[in-house]
Amino acid sequence: MRTIGLIGGMSWESTAHYYRVINQETASRLGGLHSAPLLLHSVDFAPIAQMQADGDWHRAGEQLGSIAKGLEQAGAEVIGLATNTMHVVAEQVTAELTAPFLHIGDPTSQALLDDGFRTVGLLGTRFTMEMGFYRERLEERGLQVLVPEVDQTNLNGIIYEELCRGFVREESRQVYVRAIERLAASGAEAVILGCTEIGMLIDDDVSPLPVYDTTDLHAKALVSAALA
Ligand code: GLU
Repeated sequence: MRTIGLIGGMSWESTAHYYRVINQETASRLGGLHSAPLLLHSVDFAPIAQMQADGDWHRAGEQLGSIAKGLEQAGAEVIGLATNTMHVVAEQVTAELTAPFLHIGDPTSQALLDDGFRTVGLLGTRFTMEMGFYRERLEERGLQVLVPEVDQTNLNGIIYEELCRGFVREESRQVYVRAIERLAASGAEAVILGCTEIGMLIDDDVSPLPVYDTTDLHAKALVSAALA
């Protein structure tokens, strides 16, 4: 199995989940005491979140690009960026890389297409829902992507004020459930949890639509890539 390089800490709550899923998936594929060879570079999220708020994407991209390169130099053979939002700078992250980079949107769109879905709802930070970099990646692969028409600020606030800090509130779960109901009413057949923390609130048991959790799909795809 090749060594996975993970750029994490955005937030560490979801990176902890990645670490668990990557190792569980490795154990279930290889059996016994197998676990994943993995290098993790976990950043301090506060300055990154500030760069997001300031629209200073270029500086964030430079920082994540040099972390990706550092992971490769340290021996990582497959690289993943453990956040949907920061894929806005995926080009800068991969610019200096020779090792393959697994874009979080790709296993997600593949899983939806494999299951026969075409029109999907997308939940995530306001950057992911509004900026187009993520939607376009999914649309290029043949999906029609809907984002919630109202309430975006609230959905975004719950991610940064609560989930990234480890708070899981029932009222916030209901905000997300209602957003998924609105997406269903607009024609969505399934919903993408396009932020690596939303799985803390939403799963198939509470969601009115089938759930595609980018954290789980990306983590498992990293294992597949490392075993390929
Ligand atoms: N983890 C989140 C995501 O998947 C949001 C935090 C961030 O902005 O990186 O988009």
